[in-house]
Amino acid sequence: MAELSRRQLLGASAGAMLLGAPKLALAASRNQFLAVRIWPAQAYTRITLESTEKINYKYFVLNNPNRIIVDIENANLNNVLNTITQKVQHSDPYIRNIRAGQKDDNTIRIVMELKSNINPQIFNLEPVSNFKHRLVMDLYPANGRVGEDPILALLNDMGVKSPTNTINNSSPYRQTAVPKRSNRRPVIMLDPGHGGEDPGAISPNGLQEKEVVLAIARETKKRLEALGYKVYMTRNEDVFIPLKVRTQKAQHVQADLFVSIHADSVNRPEPRGTGVYVLSERGASSEAARLLADSQNRSDTIGGVKMSNNREVNNVLMDMLQSQTITDSSRLARLVLNQLGKHNKIKNEINLANFVVLRSPDIPSILVETAFLSNPQDEALLRSTSFRKKVAQSIADGMKQYLSAAVLAQR
Ligand SMILES: [Zn+2]
Repeated sequence: MAELSRRQLLGASAGAMLLGAPKLALAASRNQFLAVRIWPAQAYTRITLESTEKINYKYFVLNNPNRIIVDIENANLNNVLNTITQKVQHSDPYIRNIRAGQKDDNTIRIVMELKSNINPQIFNLEPVSNFKHRLVMDLYPANGRVGEDPILALLNDMGVKSPTNTINNSSPYRQTAVPKRSNRRPVIMLDPGHGGEDPGAISPNGLQEKEVVLAIARETKKRLEALGYKVYMTRNEDVFIPLKVRTQKAQHVQADLFVSIHADSVNRPEPRGTGVYVLSERGASSEAARLLADSQNRSDTIGGVKMSNNREVNNVLMDMLQSQTITDSSRLARLVLNQLGKHNKIKNEINLANFVVLRSPDIPSILVETAFLSNPQDEALLRSTSFRKKVAQSIADGMKQYLSAAVLAQR
C-alpha cells in the first residue's frame, strides 16, 4: 500500500470522526442487503445500498491511485452485495471499479477505484415509500477544491457564470422595480421532474415518469431553441437533482421562465387528463392539489438530500415580487393549458399548489402534469412519441405567446 501523506491520514480520521458512525448498537440485527443500485451521471454518480437495518459505516479517501474505502459494520457479504462489481458501467464518469469483501467477521469492506479525484458525500436515508434503510454514496468531481459545496458543483456544471447574480449573493432579485423593455433573448429553464433514484410515478406497465418527462423536456427544448430562446434544463440525464437546486439553477442562469414537467398518478385508474399548476400564496386550492404537492415534494425524501441549503429570504420585497410573479405565472399557465387542451382532456382549470420547485420569487414558474400514468388511455398517450411531441409543441407555443407580450427584466 502506498505511504499515506499526513493530509490523507488527517482526512481519513476526520472523515471517520465527522461521519461518526454510531457505536454498534447492542443486539442490533444483522444487515441483510436487499439491493445495490448505481446511477452514473456527469453531474455525479450515486451508489445506493439498501438494507434491512440502518447501515453503520466509516470511510476514508486515498490518493495515488484515487480510492474510497467504505467499511460497513454488522454485515456479511451476500449475493446482492456481490453484484456491485458488475453494476459498474465502463462509461461511468467517476468509477473505475468496485469490490466488496469480508474484512473480518463483522465488517464488510467496499473498495472503489476512481477515475479522478472525487468529493464524496456519504449519508444514510431512513425508510420511505418502498425503500428500506439506505446508504447513499454520491461521488462528485472534486474540481480541485477540497470541500466544495456539491450544490455549487451541480450549478457549476451548467457551465454558466452569471456576472451579477451568483447563488451566494444574499439578494437573489433582479432589478425588476422599474422594468424597461429589453430586446435580449429570453432565457428558459425546463425542469424534467424526478430522476435517478427517484422514478416519480410508475404506470402499471412499468412506464416511469422520470423517463417520459425527460423525453418531453428534450423535445420542448428543441422547439424553444428554434424560436430563438436560450434554453437550459435542470437535468438532461437520469440523475437525482434536489428540488431547491432546480430553482437555484434557474436563478443562476437568470431564467425568465421556469417550467417543471411531470406526469401524474393516483391510486385509481379513472382520473385522466392534463393539468397546469402555479404556486399558491396560501396553501393549495383543493385537497387533490395539496396531495399532489405533497407527493411531488417528497422527491427529496426519496432521492435524499444531504446538504442543508437554507437561504430563505423573507421580507416585503419578496412578498411583492412573489405576488407579481404568481400573476405572471397564472397567465403563462393559462396560455400553456389552452395549447395542451388541444391534445388531451383538461383535468382541471389552473390549479394552485405549494410545490417547492415553483417558489422562485422572481421567475414566473409553472408545473405541467402532462397526463396520468395511472390511467390506461393516458399511459398509452405518454408512451407515444407523437403525444410527447404535441405536449412539447404546446408548451413551446404557450411560452411563445406569453413572451411575445412580456416585458423582460433588464440586465
Ligand atoms: Zn412528478
